[in-house]
Amino acid sequence: MNGPKDVTRTVILPHAPGGGRAAARIKSGNQTSRTLLPSGFTLIELLVVIAVIAVLMAILMPALNRAKEQGKRAGCLSNLKQLTLAWLMYIDQNDERLVNGDTREYTAMYNPGLKFSESHYNETPWVETDWRTTMTEREKINAIMTGALYPYVNTLKVYKCSTLERRTADAYGAVSATLRTYAIMDSMNCKSWLDRSPDMKMFKKRGEIRDAAFRAVMVDDGGTGMSALGGFTTRDLRTIRGGNHSWWDPPPVRHGEGTNWSFADGHADYHKWEDPRTVEFGKQTRPTANSPQQPDNPDLIWSAQVVWGNR
Ligand SMILES: [Zn+2]
Repeated sequence: MNGPKDVTRTVILPHAPGGGRAAARIKSGNQTSRTLLPSGFTLIELLVVIAVIAVLMAILMPALNRAKEQGKRAGCLSNLKQLTLAWLMYIDQNDERLVNGDTREYTAMYNPGLKFSESHYNETPWVETDWRTTMTEREKINAIMTGALYPYVNTLKVYKCSTLERRTADAYGAVSATLRTYAIMDSMNCKSWLDRSPDMKMFKKRGEIRDAAFRAVMVDDGGTGMSALGGFTTRDLRTIRGGNHSWWDPPPVRHGEGTNWSFADGHADYHKWEDPRTVEFGKQTRPTANSPQQPDNPDLIWSAQVVWGNR
């Protein structure tokens, strides 16, 4: 009973010769032991393990990247929803008037004496000028914080999609801080183009918007080009059906082969492009304002409908 303890431990040694496991029995009482020492990997075994890991990585990485992108896409939709809620609250508190969707890109619209339907006179932009590449980060922050929607959101982070890097080169190669990627439609009190088409009229008041669930307010658009940081626009359906099948602003392809939009009823949604020509033009590193002609492009038609209406 009180003799030396007779404890038997079994140690599993991995990768012993033969590829299997060897049990080494160590008896601590009478010191008898039988130990099989591992002889290490052979080169072939090591290469096989590396190959297996490489194959697993190749299988898993696309799925992981997809999950990561879908997380960012959801965050972006949340930003758009918050900004669009702010856009609606502004209407509630300002006698049904839409916030100025321009960023002082169209300075002539601020002159007194223009018709109300084509004017931004006495209207604070939703975001002040923040798109000049020469601006400092502090100046860009001020431009957002003095904008008319900021009091309704009180945070800078909802103005920028997290998919885009914080500092990005614009279409002209200048690297500067990117604090905003969302743009308002030209039709949503941003820019009237009545001199080009009778259908390219901007809304001043909520009551003018028909079919609000299908009229876009904002899009996850720019961040790399100056053109994208003003309002977003297309030509109207009348002009497109009349034979001009060119994109005006490059179609955004921020998320996969599509991007996020918000609508005048307050909902936000991801829209994937159908036509390869849309994606090809949107993915240009230095986007130009006008694409080559793309007849019968369903994406161009859809965009014109959500921007200018279904006429
Ligand atoms: Zn986004």
